[in-house]
Amino acid sequence: MRKKIVAGNWKMNTTVAEGVALAKAVVERSAEVPEGVDLIVAPPFTHLVSVAEVLKGSKVGLSAQNCANKAKGAYTGEVSVDMLVSAGCGWTILGHSERRQYYGETDALLVEKVRLALDAGLGVILCVGENLDEREAGRHFEVVTEQTKAVLFNFTAEEMAKIVIAYEPVWAIGTGKTATAAQAEEIHECIRKVLAQKFGQAVADDTTILYGGSCKPSNAKELFAQPDIDGGLIGGAALKADDFIGIALSF
Ligand code: PEP
Repeated sequence: MRKKIVAGNWKMNTTVAEGVALAKAVVERSAEVPEGVDLIVAPPFTHLVSVAEVLKGSKVGLSAQNCANKAKGAYTGEVSVDMLVSAGCGWTILGHSERRQYYGETDALLVEKVRLALDAGLGVILCVGENLDEREAGRHFEVVTEQTKAVLFNFTAEEMAKIVIAYEPVWAIGTGKTATAAQAEEIHECIRKVLAQKFGQAVADDTTILYGGSCKPSNAKELFAQPDIDGGLIGGAALKADDFIGIALSF
């Protein structure tokens, strides 16, 4: 079912103590967020067990920011999907542009990660988005279409029910430059059309598609008012409970 979701990607920020305090503040203020708007936080791996404890019994879900592309074994430094589930995660973000850009993650690798995550029972927030050069060359529809197809066309219509897409134009992430509501909406509409070609209109209509890139309380309302924008994946503004909840109150 298509949902309204506001998810906070904390990236490599906060100590464990700071993360626990932030999670507590989010839980406290989550009572203000209306029924039907789901909240998710994605702290660093080291924080997951402690933050899971804070979120217990609340309406705030827990996500990782990444997972390994192997199930278990001799992969030093990696974190498996089973570890995430055992730490209390219900979700993992995959394919964030920072993973693609700095750690060389490809669509083929992401297919492996999505497969493992779904099989472990995790929901997936899959990020797609064009960089500045691609946008300036007018290739944004093409790039996002290709990323969507290359990863998601390996899964079934039933599996799509556990996958959320986050459209994050790379030029808007952490730059203060938000895509206009119209720029975001036309890409979201395009993603839904691509999904409809493969999985049918009902699946496309049921898929939750988030916008991410310098989303804040002051611009969330206009973005979330678009017919194909179902919420946000929030970076910087997710590090302050007031801003994060302010965004969730923008529907
Ligand atoms: C992100 O990296 O997922 C993101 C949307 O970051 P920011 O909100 O800081 O642009």
